Amino acid sequence: MDDTIAAISTPIGEGGIAIIRVSGERAFELADRIFHSPRGRPSEFPSHTIHFGNAGTNGEVVDQIMLTVMRAPRTYTKEDTVEINCHGGVLAARKLLSLCLENGARLAEPGEFTKRAFLNGRIDLPQAEAVMDLIRARTDRAYALAVRELEGHLSAKVNDVRERLLTILAHIEAHLDFPEEDISPGTRESLLRDMEIVVGLLQSLLATAREGKILRDGITAVIVGRPNVGKSSLLNALLGQDRSIVTPVPGTTRDTVEELANIHGVPFRLIDTAGIRRARGHIETIGVRRTENALRQSEVVMHVLDLSRPFHVADHEIAKQCARKHVVLVLNKLDLPRRLRLPSRFSSCERVPLSATTGQGLQDLREKLIELAYTGTAGNTNEAVAINERHRMSLSCAYDLLTSVKHSIVVDDPLEIVSQQLRTALDAVGEVTGKTATDDILERIFSMFCIGK
Ligand code: GDP
Repeated sequence: MDDTIAAISTPIGEGGIAIIRVSGERAFELADRIFHSPRGRPSEFPSHTIHFGNAGTNGEVVDQIMLTVMRAPRTYTKEDTVEINCHGGVLAARKLLSLCLENGARLAEPGEFTKRAFLNGRIDLPQAEAVMDLIRARTDRAYALAVRELEGHLSAKVNDVRERLLTILAHIEAHLDFPEEDISPGTRESLLRDMEIVVGLLQSLLATAREGKILRDGITAVIVGRPNVGKSSLLNALLGQDRSIVTPVPGTTRDTVEELANIHGVPFRLIDTAGIRRARGHIETIGVRRTENALRQSEVVMHVLDLSRPFHVADHEIAKQCARKHVVLVLNKLDLPRRLRLPSRFSSCERVPLSATTGQGLQDLREKLIELAYTGTAGNTNEAVAINERHRMSLSCAYDLLTSVKHSIVVDDPLEIVSQQLRTALDAVGEVTGKTATDDILERIFSMFCIGK
């Protein structure tokens, strides 16, 4: 980390300003070379001040900039940092970045500023991951979760588990030093009680994994049904007032429409298969395959039927395709006279009558979708945190080890074995906060960041 890194930290494109961030031992030396102002040199400016001047070398002015000077350790990376605010636009930012690279910095790797913040001990791994979650959050709820993690809530819980494990290990190792003394029944009881508490803490953290996945990745829900039952109308109704804040999902195919909807704070990727069905007359197999594809990706299915028309046998086929998914029957066109009578095979299905055009019943559908998304989970847990997949893997490994440690204590296994298992469990817990994370774990986490973060 003895080199100085630089990157454009704002998105590439036209904008009011762009920011180039420079961090490392030679940040001020670099700034002295490229920044010119009658008021002095950056290395002499007080920390955390901002200055107007020209940027360039050898008398050539590249841009007029505002330069922020921040001295270690009170910076994002805990290193000397300068930030250059230049005019927005692709060229200005690129020219200033080149100027920095020609004057002592090298281009930062993705996430390298945050990685330095971690390596220099300013944040731990869950906080670094929270930075990413914050950037990617699509709903207020996902955002709030990221903020709590950035504040260190998850780290505090994991550190609590780790501290308790260390205390248990210390007790056991004390006995190792005096092998002639057996563990008394009283001590054994209290060790088991302490272990029970740790197992309980791990269980409650693990119970938040589904919530974490839902808020980070969203839920994929597909809308299926016969032509003209109101699939597209339903999609639009669900997007409704949130339409302005949803972003189209990239990779949209010609025949399926995908949109991101915010339903009670949960990001839902909605796939409307209306186009697929319309294509059916021409290229039936392709249409069927695309519906199957959409169904395969989805966790929740909305099977739409038209309440104003008699039942159609094709809906049996559609229901068959949706088997083994969480399905909700959407009985649409509630505002029209009812002519639909559902066959008995549908009697046990979840159903929501509604009208996509009047909006009646739509709220019930939103609630049902949330309920289905959380099926088989503890639902919205009361924990203020929600772990990600990486945390889940490490914590469940620790959980399994502790279950076997408990057994070892009960059956009086040699204490060497118990202490070895506890150490492995401690390592697994430490991986979450980064205390024992290997280089590949770090590599995997930070490579997901954008350059300049
Ligand atoms: P899709 O082919 O399943 O996507 O169906 P559309 O969304 O295109 O809707 C087909 C027709 O049904 C359109 O004329 C809609 O205006 C109409 N429609 C959709 N939902 C309702 C509803 O709740 N009530 C009424 N009266 N008409 C609806």
